[in-house]
Amino acid sequence: MAAGLGERMARQRISDGGTGGPEGSGQPPGDRQAMFRSAMEAAQVGIFVFQDRCFKYVNPCFVRLFGFSAEELVDRMSPLDLVAPEQHGFVMAQMQEPTPGASGHHYELTAIRKDGSTFPVTILGAQSAFGGRPATVGTVLDISAEKAAELRIRELADYDVLTGLPNRRLFRERFVQLLAAAEREHSEIAVVFLDLDHFKRVNDSLGHSVGDELLCEVARRLDRVVRRIDTVARLGGDEFIFAMPGFHTAAATEVARRLVDVFARPFEVAGHELTVTPSLGISIYPADGRDLETLLRNADTAMYRAKDIGRNCFQFYSSEMNTATLDRLLMESNLRRALAQDEFVLHYQPLVNLQSGLIIGVEALIRWQHPELGMIMPDRFIHVAEETGLINPLGDWVLCEACRQAQAWADEGLPALAMAVNVAPVQFRQAGFVEVVAGALAASGLEASRLELELTERTVMHDADINLGTLSALHRMGVELSLDDFGTGYSSLAYLKRFPVGKLKIDRSFVNDLETDPDDRAIASTIVSMGRSLRMTVLAEGVESAEQLALLRKMGCDMAQGFLFSRPLSADGMADMLRLQPFIKG
Ligand code: C2E
Ligand code: MG
Ligand code: MG
Repeated sequence: MAAGLGERMARQRISDGGTGGPEGSGQPPGDRQAMFRSAMEAAQVGIFVFQDRCFKYVNPCFVRLFGFSAEELVDRMSPLDLVAPEQHGFVMAQMQEPTPGASGHHYELTAIRKDGSTFPVTILGAQSAFGGRPATVGTVLDISAEKAAELRIRELADYDVLTGLPNRRLFRERFVQLLAAAEREHSEIAVVFLDLDHFKRVNDSLGHSVGDELLCEVARRLDRVVRRIDTVARLGGDEFIFAMPGFHTAAATEVARRLVDVFARPFEVAGHELTVTPSLGISIYPADGRDLETLLRNADTAMYRAKDIGRNCFQFYSSEMNTATLDRLLMESNLRRALAQDEFVLHYQPLVNLQSGLIIGVEALIRWQHPELGMIMPDRFIHVAEETGLINPLGDWVLCEACRQAQAWADEGLPALAMAVNVAPVQFRQAGFVEVVAGALAASGLEASRLELELTERTVMHDADINLGTLSALHRMGVELSLDDFGTGYSSLAYLKRFPVGKLKIDRSFVNDLETDPDDRAIASTIVSMGRSLRMTVLAEGVESAEQLALLRKMGCDMAQGFLFSRPLSADGMADMLRLQPFIKG
């Protein structure tokens, strides 16, 4: 009977240096045998012969792969000892199949080394017969490197490189599964669209690497608040999307609140404390759409609505919003037309000195007198104008018109007034802003000291050093500068001292609940004393009640503005009021 190769080689243990004598008839000549042996020894794949439930031969590469010696393996161990337990059933089934000579099987298994560590292998088994009995000749290939590469490729295809969150592709894939389950179980899925407010400012002022780091921090925090079954993905830029199965409107409200809260604490990035806020839009399957495209589009629409109503909040989609989106698109072209056709007007609200009770200034507030829609308030269109760059021509117009009006009143013989004009950040930063201001003063003949520019803290803090130049130039011209909506930004006292700002306007939100909220009271009185110590005038915005006024007076607040004195009025209305001065007694 012819002894097979495996059998012969098995007897010839790797470790015995190949001196084991061949036996049986039909053996190859010595040099061929030596050639076989060195081929087996040099092979870079593991090779084994398996028969009668044991290995009969293993080559050196096989030994290296598994860490067992040839002695430990041959005649003692079987493939079952070298693969993960959960794959035993599969391996046994393979072993029972043998039909000698059948074509080779090729499968991937998890192999176990002597030290217990595992690695992925491909095994190719071919049936053979040795000594008249069936046997298997197999090769084992370590595919760890290929698997790692495959994983990396999958990661690149499925995950966002910057944040490590799933990307749109993986989100879509998971959503298909969620959708199938929701259909079966008649359950709901919330789709949330989250966009960071004014993220561009971070990139613009601190650079892209800080922006990137901030995005990573945001991603980390967001990932922490969602459940394991939820998916949060980065769509690109500063946009994130969430798929949350099993959420109806009430539950989604809770989550949306938590997502907004994620941003309550500032982010510490590269030595900066950054505060960003999110705007969220939510759509719910199946009410707001039955496929991902529709749900995402509707969540996106709702997100824009959240931005429109003041950011840092969430909105659920409602079908009326489609008209709102359309409005937004129309808004831009409408704004251009409105500017060309003089549809903007300024209204004026008195600024009152609390000691004398006299109106010592007015704030110019823009309104859009739309031919069909009527009066549109600035909160609805200023941000569109800012985003589209229209704010520059619009702001220039406001400056010229306000200066013209102030001088016209003076020419009429009305008491001298300060004219306060709001300046948007983009407008303030435009090249040549100082010249625009000088031009408006020159054209109207208004004295520079009568003009007061209202800037927000954010405008001033952004690129503080560059702004300092512009602020100083304006100051040298004699123009007054005031900080609007004070308390909502993050100014530090040390910073404020550097700027030639003469007035602080306490934001309306602190005045609103002055009578009832001790925190607001503390904030307002802190601003008052802080302003005083910096020798600034402090004005309280949004004063609506006599109680608020009394409290502010007690704190030593210098000036006030609000419905208690007057709503913003047309130029004629304002002129009438000025003729009635003084209107506050005592
Ligand atoms: P702001 O500069 O803080 O202006 C004060 C806002 O508070 C005005 O709203 C005013 O009508 C309102 N207000 C005054 N007193 C009270 C009060 O007692 N209670 C309440 N609830 N509100 C009061 P308005 O006119 O709607 O303007 C909103 C914002 O739009 C302004 O806030 C300002 O930031 C911006 N804005 C207005 N006109 C212009 C402009 O010409 N250029 C720029 N860039 N922004 C402008
Ligand atoms: Mg203002
Ligand atoms: Mg304000």
